[in-house]
Amino acid sequence: MSDVEKTCIFCEIVSRKIPCVKIYEDERTIAFADINPLVGGHSLVIPKTHAVNLMDITPGDLAAVHQSCQRVGAAIMKAFKAPGLAVLQLNGSAAGQTVMHYHVHLIPRLGAKDKIGAFTWPVRAGNPKIIEKNALKIISML
Ligand code: 5GP
Ligand code: ZN
Repeated sequence: MSDVEKTCIFCEIVSRKIPCVKIYEDERTIAFADINPLVGGHSLVIPKTHAVNLMDITPGDLAAVHQSCQRVGAAIMKAFKAPGLAVLQLNGSAAGQTVMHYHVHLIPRLGAKDKIGAFTWPVRAGNPKIIEKNALKIISML
C-alpha cells in the first residue's frame, strides 16, 4: 500500500478502517451515503482500488464504477421518487475535488420541488469562431 493510500479516507472506507453507510458493493466498487448530503439519498460510488481522478483510473475500474452508478442511480430515483438524477464527478482542487480518490456523486433531483440551486449557469451564446478555436486546441492534445 502506498503512502497516499494509507492517508486516503476513501481507501480507509474500502478497508473498513473507518465506517460508512454502505449501499452497494461488488468486486471492484462500493457505493455509500455521502456524510454531508446535499439532499436525502446523496450517495458516492468509488473504485476499491485507489485512483486520484478521471485521468488516473483504469478503464476497467472506470467502467465498473459507472455500471454501479447506473444500478445505484436507478435505485435512488425509485427510493426518493426523483424524476431526475445528477451525476457529478470533480477532478482536481480547482474543480472542487476535496477527496483525492475517484468518486462519483449521485444526487436525486426533484425538478420544481428541488431547493438545490447548483448545476445551473446563465445561457450565453458563444462566438462560433472561438468555439471552433477552442475545439481545435483540444483536438491537438488528443
Ligand atoms: P468532492 O468535493 O471531492 O467531489 O466530494 C467529496 C465528498 O466526500 C463530499 O461530498 C464529502 O461530504 C464526502 N466525504 C468526505 N469524507 C467522507 C467520509 O468520511 N465519509 C463519507 N461517507 N463521505 C465523505
Ligand atoms: Zn484512496
